[in-house]
Amino acid sequence: MVDYHVHTRLCGHARGSVEEYVEAALRQGLREICFTDHIPLPGFGRGLPGLRMNARDTERYFASLERARTAYREITILTGIEADYYEGCEEYLRRFLGRYPLDLVLMSVHFLRGWPEPYWVFDPPPLPVQQLYSEYFAELRKGIQTGLFDSVAHLDLVKLPGAPALRSNAEDVRQVLALCRERGMSLEINTSGARKAIAETYPAPEITALAAREGTALITGSDAHDPDQVGFLFTHLQAFLRELPGARLVGYRGRKAIPARSRATG
Ligand code: ZN
Ligand code: FE
Ligand code: FE
Ligand code: ZN
Repeated sequence: MVDYHVHTRLCGHARGSVEEYVEAALRQGLREICFTDHIPLPGFGRGLPGLRMNARDTERYFASLERARTAYREITILTGIEADYYEGCEEYLRRFLGRYPLDLVLMSVHFLRGWPEPYWVFDPPPLPVQQLYSEYFAELRKGIQTGLFDSVAHLDLVKLPGAPALRSNAEDVRQVLALCRERGMSLEINTSGARKAIAETYPAPEITALAAREGTALITGSDAHDPDQVGFLFTHLQAFLRELPGARLVGYRGRKAIPARSRATG
């Protein structure tokens, strides 16, 4: 297995250094780890202190990954970023992503500019569930259409307990998956939901199953914000993937998807 979604303390709300995450990945027997810390958002509000990496730490982030690659030969350490999509981010993202040698760019929608401040997905406006989800998925589609990203992270991050998105918003979900395929993007299976009240992966297993059946490539991520969370529930995930019809895992190098070495173990 590989963990393609981990943070570090540089983002301000995670614990642990790059080395501590790599050591944890080695203990878990992972073959690859991709660091995807939160991209700085200097133009967003006051720069979201504590939520995103400070712009002045960007070079330090990439340098620390470079150092770890030299220090650890027994595991593949990839350079990624978790990039927020929101209306108006395109120019900034294009410049940022062009400047650094990245292996993987995750697309995340955490903020909806159309919502009242703080625009935050975890503090949504009081809309009926179907409309709430539908606005979220519309935002995902806009993000995918920019062509700026490689993989869709936590696709149903907006979901609320007891209200599966595939039940209320099947057409929205299908459209997101179709666009994702058309654009050659992969879908992330993110185990962090299982650590929260929602108590299941992002996306929900039935959405992952639909995506796999239709041929969407998959990646796996723990969204670790603590070295102890690296590879979180990956034993379960591996069993799930082994039984999943059509499951196709991919890796990334220099923002190009490559076939994983073998299905469900890759
Ligand atoms: Zn975070
Ligand atoms: Fe996220
Ligand atoms: Fe994350
Ligand atoms: Zn995330």
